[in-house]
Amino acid sequence: MIRVGVDIGGTKIKVGLVKEEDGALLTKGKIPFVHEGYEVVFQQIAAEINRLLEEAHQSIEQVGSIGLAVPGSIDTRQGRVLHAHNLGFHDVPVVAAMKQYFPEIPVYVGNDANAAALGELCCGVFQGYRTAVLLTIGTGVGGGIICEGKMFNGGRDHGVELGHMMLKYGGIQCSCGNYGCVESYCTATWLIEEGRKLIKEGKDSLVVKRAEGNPDKVDGKLVVDAARDKDPLAMEIMETFVDNLSAAITSINALMDPEIIAIGGGISGAGDILFQPLREKVKEKSFFKVEYNIVPAHLGNDAGIIGAANLYHNGV
Ligand SMILES: [Zn+2]
Repeated sequence: MIRVGVDIGGTKIKVGLVKEEDGALLTKGKIPFVHEGYEVVFQQIAAEINRLLEEAHQSIEQVGSIGLAVPGSIDTRQGRVLHAHNLGFHDVPVVAAMKQYFPEIPVYVGNDANAAALGELCCGVFQGYRTAVLLTIGTGVGGGIICEGKMFNGGRDHGVELGHMMLKYGGIQCSCGNYGCVESYCTATWLIEEGRKLIKEGKDSLVVKRAEGNPDKVDGKLVVDAARDKDPLAMEIMETFVDNLSAAITSINALMDPEIIAIGGGISGAGDILFQPLREKVKEKSFFKVEYNIVPAHLGNDAGIIGAANLYHNGV
């Protein structure tokens, strides 16, 4: 049987066919997200699903379910997206919109970061664990919780928002309007901002040299690489970043003491310069003085597709 996963983003939509037996991706495709109303979006998704089925020589009868991963707050029971600002979706009946094209096939919807955690459980780094937390770090912080071997979808089926846990009460204002969220301190955006400050302040640093004094050339990787090359100011930035992230993970540990924590997003490729001090600081700060299992996420760019394709595990 085939499970279809659709990862809907603000610029592109990724669609994949996943084999149920081993969770492997059979084929995948990408279409642009057009801001012309959700009806047009779902018409194009349906066309892409049909195209991929044809390409993989599979018939629609072999499709067991379709899962939609959406960056926003979802009412999974009602099959509606409550808010997805990047998509311009507000109270959109996404399950009904998809079923219009595939009336016989069950359709599920979930938050994209929550779904990515489910993907890691089904065929990634969480396999075999019952309690796990994924933090996806990019321009924002997303995340998902696996509890008792299932994706935890929140008490009201609206998903969880790990990026909006409070890290520093009264701190920097977050995109959600609140002050001091995890998302304001533990993102690639934060790293870039700190790197740009070095340029503005005219500091002597590899970050400034490698960006040729141009703030637009600073990205997260540039700051991490400069720290790896022992640039003192970049190392200071990394240290503060790890300090912030370890504080967020410490709160998660106090709440649910997970067996494993995975870090996803571009920063997860940073390797030992991130993970070693992170494990040390988390142990130092956590209530339970144990070696926490903190690892890079496994599924990378396909996490959304694979997670969406596995949403049927969680049901409605
Ligand atoms: Zn927030």
